[in-house]
Amino acid sequence: LYIDQPFVPGQALLLGPEQAHYLSGVMRQGPGAEIAVFNGRDGEWTARIERADRRGGALSLIARSAPQRDPPDLWLLFAPLKKARTDFIVEKAAELGAARILPVQTDHTNAERIAQGRLQAHAVEAAEQCGGTFVPQVAELTPLARLLEGWDSARRILWADEALVGPAQTLAGLPSGPWAVLIGPEGGWSEAERARLAGMAGVARISLGPRILRADTAAVAALTLWQAALGD
Ligand code: SAM
Repeated sequence: LYIDQPFVPGQALLLGPEQAHYLSGVMRQGPGAEIAVFNGRDGEWTARIERADRRGGALSLIARSAPQRDPPDLWLLFAPLKKARTDFIVEKAAELGAARILPVQTDHTNAERIAQGRLQAHAVEAAEQCGGTFVPQVAELTPLARLLEGWDSARRILWADEALVGPAQTLAGLPSGPWAVLIGPEGGWSEAERARLAGMAGVARISLGPRILRADTAAVAALTLWQAALGD
């Protein structure tokens, strides 16, 4: 269970009604039961349920069961799609070890807003699901051009360009360090964006294979290729 509070041994963790209901109603766990908790910073801990009912709950920390494991310094930049597929991308990016997820507005994206809170909740669920001790942060929707203006060139960009369709690239040999995977919208990249990215230092333009993939598939494929080559 993810609990966004500092973990101080001897100090109770207080649960809101939703989390308490999840424990008692969904997980069928009551007072005395021991569960695994994490806050994204202090590793995984065993905690005892002191109280969990519809008003809220309380846990006491027992001991740390696993150290904090942070993912590699990998970001995903993607253009939001329709609701269900955007949710899918966030969930899969969290499972595939992205440390930050940044929805971006590109020249061919219509999205003007995203439900950042809902997407962050999906990232939390995915982290809980795969037993991680880290929850990726989902950023607010930002224009890609603005992000690229202030881009720190130490972070390399793995740019998936559908115009390159051909054999999927092997990423072996790319340098380690901070990276961002960049996936375009359903409408693809504009020529202005291609020119901008092609002129930037530290950008690796890649093909994901001989077919044009949907953007959600492309995000999963690119993150997987990166993990295969540079993940740990
Ligand atoms: N509408 C575009 C077209 O028909 O050429 C396709 C865009 S594709 C659905 C969405 C994004 O997925 C692309 O901008 C790119 O980032 C990525 N993508 C999809 N297939 C790819 C491939 N074979 N190689 C590299 N990137 C790909």
